[in-house]
Amino acid sequence: MGKHDLILLALNPSQILDLMQRALSAAGFDVAVANDVSALNKSTREATPALIILGERFAEQDGLSIAAEALERFPTLPIILYADKDTSGMAKSALKLGLSGYLYPPLKVADIVDEVQKSLARARKLGDWLRREVKRTTSSLVEKAQISETERIKLEAIIANIQDGVIVLDEKKHILLVNNIIREIFKLDGQEINGKALEDVIHNADLNALISRSSDEPLKYHEINFDDGRVFNAQYTPLPNIGAAVTMQDISYLKELDRLKNDFIHTVSHDLRSPLTAVLGYTELIERTGALNASQQEFLRRLQGGVQHITALINDLLDLGRLESGFDVRRELVQMEDVLKYSLDMFDGEIKKKRIKLLINIDPEMQPLRANPIRIRQMIDNLIGNAVKYTPDEGRVQADLFMKDKQIIFKVEDTGPGIPPEEHNRIFEKFFRATNAPDNVEGSGLGLAIVKSIVDSHQGRVWVESAVGKGSAFTVILPTQE
Ligand code: ADP
Repeated sequence: MGKHDLILLALNPSQILDLMQRALSAAGFDVAVANDVSALNKSTREATPALIILGERFAEQDGLSIAAEALERFPTLPIILYADKDTSGMAKSALKLGLSGYLYPPLKVADIVDEVQKSLARARKLGDWLRREVKRTTSSLVEKAQISETERIKLEAIIANIQDGVIVLDEKKHILLVNNIIREIFKLDGQEINGKALEDVIHNADLNALISRSSDEPLKYHEINFDDGRVFNAQYTPLPNIGAAVTMQDISYLKELDRLKNDFIHTVSHDLRSPLTAVLGYTELIERTGALNASQQEFLRRLQGGVQHITALINDLLDLGRLESGFDVRRELVQMEDVLKYSLDMFDGEIKKKRIKLLINIDPEMQPLRANPIRIRQMIDNLIGNAVKYTPDEGRVQADLFMKDKQIIFKVEDTGPGIPPEEHNRIFEKFFRATNAPDNVEGSGLGLAIVKSIVDSHQGRVWVESAVGKGSAFTVILPTQE
């Protein structure tokens, strides 16, 4: 206990003062003596003594009034009153004033040290309690500052009337409030959930993934799926000084529409393919039935070209349908560099015809990928095919294939017309063609949608970087370990 605490003695010069000075120094305290009231006040202010022993009369003044004044300014400072002799009146006054101890003759060294130590211990306890209390009140004030009870009720009333599901979380991802829609969505009924950790209350893997992954991203959209088929679109928005809000909208009907549309496209494409094969077959038979004149041959050629074009389109649509419904489950070890070489071989004729400068960089240490080889070929064909198709004569196409942190990176760069920045995301949508796509370049707008579906089904990512008039670069990242 505070051996180096400073004890300030405010006593008239006397044997008692000497005794106290010796006793307390011997007990290991620092001791200072005030000669008059102004010295006492100065030392109390500046030297911050741990305790004062004050004479009943000090420097011609009344000890009790000096003590009262000192306590006014330093209410937690322990003061022991020394009385020349013990009277019950003096003891009562000391008690009433809130002094921490009372000494009177005859005095032994032990009495002095004992009284000082007791007073200090009490003061210390009081100090600890005060500190704790201050901390508690400030922290509850901080909580209140974040979201006060009245604010909470107001907010709850607003949020209750919103048709979207709303969850407000604090910074520790504990629930501050949820609205009724959320209670309905997660079947929470009347459960008391405020203040609980979100993951303890709502057991939905998609939602928990959104919350745990969202700390570093400012705003994120995410689909929340339920076993009964419902699908919600969820957004996570950080709220400064509060935590975060998650809003959820039911998009089950949109998903259902999307599914119906895909089913429709799939059925129509399927039903169209057979008659088209028949049309193609008959156009080939016509040639065998007798000699055709030059015009007839030309018309037949155009007919066949048209039918082949529609068949290719339908095959793309059927492919997309299969990919989107998750049928792509075939997995083999694929060496991407081999697939890339085959693909480049296929475009060799066109590359030469357009006098395109082709640059190829392949990492000698390529690792195999567990993938569907047909789909990987399709993806590479589409990207290389686009680069060659959109690059003007004498342009340049570069294909890079390398490993980075167990991921395969495939990048195709070209010096084509580029894609306007606001369309970078849209070009992966079905049937979308960039507004600056050259008129003389044919296309259906399905190639990149197929690329995206293939990359998605292999847990990869694809994106484009492009500047109009300069060229485009498509990058695909595929993890080698699924
Ligand atoms: P398309 O059959 O029209 O080429 P894609 O789905 O492959 O369809 O591409 C979608 C659109 O993206 C294209 O119509 C084109 O506008 C743009 N695009 C794709 N690749 C390139 C490229 N390498 N350079 C410029 N534009 C491109």
